[in-house]
Amino acid sequence: MQADPTETLTPFTGHACPQECWSCKGPVALEDLFCPTCSTIQPLGQVDHFKRLDLEATFDLDVNDLDRRYFELQGKLHPDRFATKTSQERTLSMQQATSLNDAYETLKDSLKRADYLVHMMGQNVLPEGCQLISAPDLLEEAMELREALAMAETADDIDAIAARAAGDIDDCEIGLSKAFAGEDIEGACALTTRLKYLRKLTDEVRQQRAKMTAMS
Ligand SMILES: [Zn+2]
Repeated sequence: MQADPTETLTPFTGHACPQECWSCKGPVALEDLFCPTCSTIQPLGQVDHFKRLDLEATFDLDVNDLDRRYFELQGKLHPDRFATKTSQERTLSMQQATSLNDAYETLKDSLKRADYLVHMMGQNVLPEGCQLISAPDLLEEAMELREALAMAETADDIDAIAARAAGDIDDCEIGLSKAFAGEDIEGACALTTRLKYLRKLTDEVRQQRAKMTAMS
């Protein structure tokens, strides 16, 4: 009888510790997709998104490298490869593929990546989460830009706001890189909040531009 793969899950202790392959009982690490001994697909280890893609937990990701790792792993988990396997192996491969997609979607986007890293690194620093960080400067900036957007009458006005927001987003990302590198979690948290707001503003700018095009 085959063991239930979910029973071999060990609680996450912050580092990958060796466990047993559900099929051959050989040693496997939490982040292993396949058993190094018998090559059988393994259940989801409770590893973070970075570890799932064998990456260091950092804000400064090389997006091309991320893409390369993702597509390589995705290929290994392709349903065609499991067509002749047991239903248990097919289920495990689907769980692994879903979890891989999740990790990729989160890490590829700078805002989602920043949010995730703040959560990962900030549990001891910011137990209440980012929401409690008050940022009067940010509020003022938000009001000012929103007012400018409301007053915008021409496509040029809107382009100017879009350009400013794009520049601010770049600044934010540079600041986030520095904050995470210096383990300044509160700083990273404030910048993540700012980036969230700037992304929202960019959406509003896009909508306003579409409205203006529709009216002309
Ligand atoms: Zn094995």
